[in-house]
Order: sequence, then C-alpha cells, then structure tokens
Amino acid sequence: MDDLKFGTRDIRGNWTPNARLQIAPFWLGKLNEMGRFLIDFIWPWNTFHMATAILYWVLIIPDMETMQTLAWSWALWLLAANSVGIFLMYGAIELFYYARRIQGRRFKYNHKFPSEHPSNVFWFKSQNLDNFLRSFLVGIPIWTAVEVGVLWCYANGIGTWLDWQDNWLWLGMLVILVPAIHEIHFFFIHRLIHTPWLYKHVHSVHHNSINPSPWSSLSMHPVEHLLYFGEIVWHLIIPSNPVVMLFNSHVVGYGAINGHIGFDKLELTDEKGLDSHAYAHYLHHKYFEVNYGADGLVPLDKWFGYWHDGSKEADERMKERFRRKKAQVNAKKRLGTLAG
Ligand SMILES: [Zn+2]
Ligand SMILES: [Zn+2]
Repeated sequence: MDDLKFGTRDIRGNWTPNARLQIAPFWLGKLNEMGRFLIDFIWPWNTFHMATAILYWVLIIPDMETMQTLAWSWALWLLAANSVGIFLMYGAIELFYYARRIQGRRFKYNHKFPSEHPSNVFWFKSQNLDNFLRSFLVGIPIWTAVEVGVLWCYANGIGTWLDWQDNWLWLGMLVILVPAIHEIHFFFIHRLIHTPWLYKHVHSVHHNSINPSPWSSLSMHPVEHLLYFGEIVWHLIIPSNPVVMLFNSHVVGYGAINGHIGFDKLELTDEKGLDSHAYAHYLHHKYFEVNYGADGLVPLDKWFGYWHDGSKEADERMKERFRRKKAQVNAKKRLGTLAG
C-alpha cells in the first residue's frame, strides 16, 4: 500500500496519519457516521476477543467442581493457556512486522525499530527482552491470578452470575458495554499512576518504551498489572456471566496490544489494511500527559482536557497546558523558598 496516500513522512522518516482521531460519533450527534463506527467497533478486534473468550470457555476453563477449590493444577493450566495465547498473538505481529518487517516502515509512526537501539533503561539494554520478560514473568501470571480469583468466586456463588437463557438482553447489553467499562477503568487507573509519586515508582516502567512495540503492551510494574487487570473484578459487582467476564479479560489482556503496534495499518493486500487503533496510545507514549484512555468511545480525555487528536492545534493546546503547569510548579517553588 502507498502510505503517503494516508499520511505524511517527515525528513527523519516518522509517518503521521492525515486523519485526525475522532471520539465516538454519537457524542457529536454525527449519526451518519454510526454505520462505519459500528463496523469498526465489532470487527475485527472485539470479534476476536469474543471468539477467544468462547474458545476458552469451551476448551480451557475447567468445570465448576474443579474451580470450587483453589489449586495449582488448574491455575497453571490457565497460565499456560494465557502464555501460549499471548505468545502466538503478540509474537505473530512481532515476527512479521518487527523481525521480518514484511511491510518495512510503511504506516510506522516512529521510523526506529527498538531492536536497533539498545538503552540502559531496559534489562539487558534491550527493550524487546525487557518487555518480553516483564510480560511473561510478571504480567501474565498476575492476569491469570485475577482470572483464577474471579472464576473461583463464580464457582462458589460469590457475585451475581446470570445465565443467557433468562438474561440475554442484559448480558447482550453488557457485552456492548465491556469496551466502555474498559475505557473508563483504564482512564482512571492510568490517570492515577501519572501522579508524580506513582509515576516515578510504578508507571515509569511502562513508559520506558517511548517507541512501543508489541511486547511493550504488558510490560508494566506489578502494581500497574494489578490495577490494570483488576478491571476483571467489576464482574463480581455487575451482574454478569463468565463468558462476558472472559470477553472483558481478553479485551484487557489480548487487547493491550492495540495501543502498542506502532503501525497505523497492518497491510493485508495491496489495497487493504487493518486499522490498528494504535494512534491515540502511541501519542500517549510520545507526549506522556495526553490520551490517558483509549479511542474516545467514552471520551474522558476530551472532557478532562487531555485529548490529543494528532493535529497541530491539539499540539498547541498541549504545549499551553504544559507551560501553565510549569509556571504553577515554579510559583509553588518560589513560595516554598520565601517561606523557608
Ligand atoms: Zn502503553
Ligand atoms: Zn501512561
């Protein structure tokens, strides 16, 4: 595909899309854009997460009786399934787009590939190795532990668990609401860990990857893993069903890759490309204090003034916000010196 039909490339080779990020059209009353939006909402990512959730339910999740007792056997089985699943999905994108580079730098926001740039901030100076180890040694085990906890609650009748037959309308609505729950939960825990102390001690681990790649997705401090995967616990509070809970779990686990793909489109043919939905979160990794949420399904960033849609105007607004913040900090410092 010709990526210059869809964006521009600067002299360093960084590619920027022409299209601006848009919050969900129903917030703007643009009902004529709803068709396109709904297709994007369903296909392919959320369909993939639902398909894997059903697959897990049928093939991997043990029966009720087994899950009534916490045991290593089924916890490790689930850990193996999650590890293999993430290895295959993330690994495929890493292999084709970062190792073999089947589409070169077309549609790539940052022209650099992390493997070419060793840095001291990473274990073994390697972003890939650091991110991979943090994901598999810490992230996936914590994700699995939260899943095991919620499944144990389900098997022991803790929470309100509904069957599809009598509650199909509510459960159907809940499936549609899951991506919104995800955006709201992620926005607030993410904004929280951008407060100075938590940023320094917790979230900076994830932000070491200024130029994120697939393995960056689940590379976090364990406290962030807990807050992030804690989203699944909402299904103990909201009346739910284990398949919907697993769908949510996969939106969080498998879906984390979307913001970290690094390419705007993954080319499928010469004409067609798959939208990665990576740009909003890519801008977060680039500028830090913008786009704490996801795609603007629930546009909390817009309402709180953090939204960056990729335009020059958004850039100016962001810089102005940073200037004001700096002035405030300096004023406080001056006051502190006077008082001292
Ligand atoms: Zn990230
Ligand atoms: Zn962040």
